[in-house]
Amino acid sequence: MFEKERDKYLNRHGFEGMHLKAVLFDMDGVLFDSMKNHSEAWHIAMTKMGFHFPKSEAYMHEGRTGSGTINIVTQRELNRDATEEEKEQIYKIKSDIFNSLHDVEPMPGAMDLLNKLKTDHVTPILVTGSAQKTLINRLNLHFPNTFVPELMVTAYDVKYGKPNPEPYLIGKRKGNLELYEGIVIENAPLGIESASNAGFFTVAVNTGPLEDRILIDSGADLLFHSMQELADHWEALRKCLQQ
Ligand code: CA
Repeated sequence: MFEKERDKYLNRHGFEGMHLKAVLFDMDGVLFDSMKNHSEAWHIAMTKMGFHFPKSEAYMHEGRTGSGTINIVTQRELNRDATEEEKEQIYKIKSDIFNSLHDVEPMPGAMDLLNKLKTDHVTPILVTGSAQKTLINRLNLHFPNTFVPELMVTAYDVKYGKPNPEPYLIGKRKGNLELYEGIVIENAPLGIESASNAGFFTVAVNTGPLEDRILIDSGADLLFHSMQELADHWEALRKCLQQ
């Protein structure tokens, strides 16, 4: 199981084998069922500022830093970059709304998978475009003793953010990894693009409204339809990636 996908990846990169030591996790839509709240918060904040931003657009920008998303919207509607003040103001409104919405729940299956990693001594690394301090604190609440600060990449660490490979390359450096020693779990097209272009074996979990094909076309090596499905196949996947 999964040998075909693994061998395709190995051939593409000229690696002899996988030696899985770490899993790099995206956060929103992977560890937390938070994308509905994000799209709602972006929609309200942008509308308040006079911009057109349907909820569905949030899924297209998922993984970008907040300032990156804001800049795309001002470029589109005002033909100019966003000022630093605008970026701060809009992102603050968006964050306040996000924090006021009902509590974000962990993604079903995420805890199951993280527990399996712990048993197998595979290291979890966080790679998120989020600058949501509350959500990062929530990590420790819902997944205690799992993610350590030295192995987290957030919006504060990056210059470009996803879809640039930068965040995953920083994760690779923080984890002291070779590419064939880690895999990435992502739910969004831009995140998959970032991970795949960084050179990692990229597992898509389609937890949102997009078609599978969009995630595959973004560069995913393998796709599951939920974190639970991935957790259920973890043993087979780990064996395949540690040969
Ligand atoms: Ca995500």
